[in-house]
Amino acid sequence: MSTISRVAAASALAAILGTAGLIAQDDAITKKARGIHERVMTLDTHDDISPNNFTADCNYTQDLGNQVNLPKMVKGGLDASFFIVYVGQDTGPDAFTPAGYDRAYKSAVEKFDAIHRLTETIAEDKIGLALTSADARRIYKSGRKVAFIGVENGYPIGEDISRVKEFYDRGARYMSLAHNGHSQLSDSNTGEAQGFKWNGLSPLGKQVIAEMNRVGIMIDVSHPSKESMMQTLALTKAPIIASHSSVRKLANHSRNLDDEQLLALKKNGGVMQTVAFSSYVKVDSAERVAALNALRKEFGLPDGTPLAAGAGRGGRGAGGRGANPCTGGV
Ligand SMILES: [Zn+2]
Repeated sequence: MSTISRVAAASALAAILGTAGLIAQDDAITKKARGIHERVMTLDTHDDISPNNFTADCNYTQDLGNQVNLPKMVKGGLDASFFIVYVGQDTGPDAFTPAGYDRAYKSAVEKFDAIHRLTETIAEDKIGLALTSADARRIYKSGRKVAFIGVENGYPIGEDISRVKEFYDRGARYMSLAHNGHSQLSDSNTGEAQGFKWNGLSPLGKQVIAEMNRVGIMIDVSHPSKESMMQTLALTKAPIIASHSSVRKLANHSRNLDDEQLLALKKNGGVMQTVAFSSYVKVDSAERVAALNALRKEFGLPDGTPLAAGAGRGGRGAGGRGANPCTGGV
């Protein structure tokens, strides 16, 4: 749930209960939060894209009905965004052959090109691509929005380590070594259910870590397995990030970071940007289901009744990786 809808839900609950004090307190918190929001350069570290939304006719200068676009960034006070070069993990028979790698590489290049098109041709007066933190500050000061590029899944680099530098030159400033499903570089969190391939990083993945450190791409651990993250921390010479993770103690999902991982991340000087994707925040433990049903009973609602607008699973806004009126992208 977004901060705004959480505030709205809290206000609605306070109104139902007739608790004026709670509303006043809520207003004060909202005011304080808004003050901070307006003062700082706000950054979302993980926004998926579809190249279909980066064309002359259909692009981010319009509110496409998707989660992030320029009108929404203006309205919501979002100053900077990591747009994502995401390539899903192919698990077919030729996934780890030159043909499989080539398909993945072409898909990645299409997304790199789309982001460059937005910031260099379609809307260069509204948003600029930052390659350094100094770039970000300069673009922000000019009144434009700031774009960064992150790569989700190292699969498209194939087995060619020189592509790390190539991706850097294309603007990538973070990359994860796996998504859901193991890559040639690293185990994925999905191994907890399906079994592991490398028991952490592959030999090539270890070389890629060194190369990313050398060229200056942050390592993102939001999808790789726990063991992969711990091995990454032992190898990396720079702080790492978890661009869109949550806390395992709160939601027991293999994508989330447990206390050992969080403390190791802290020691490394890295950061986790918490995700607002409901599957990783609201896991239906027996305890949670029982608590929600007790709440429903208290209000005379049948078991399973949604307790807030948009409650339940999902989380990629209206319709997930798939719905928008322009193209069917994100
Ligand atoms: Zn992801």
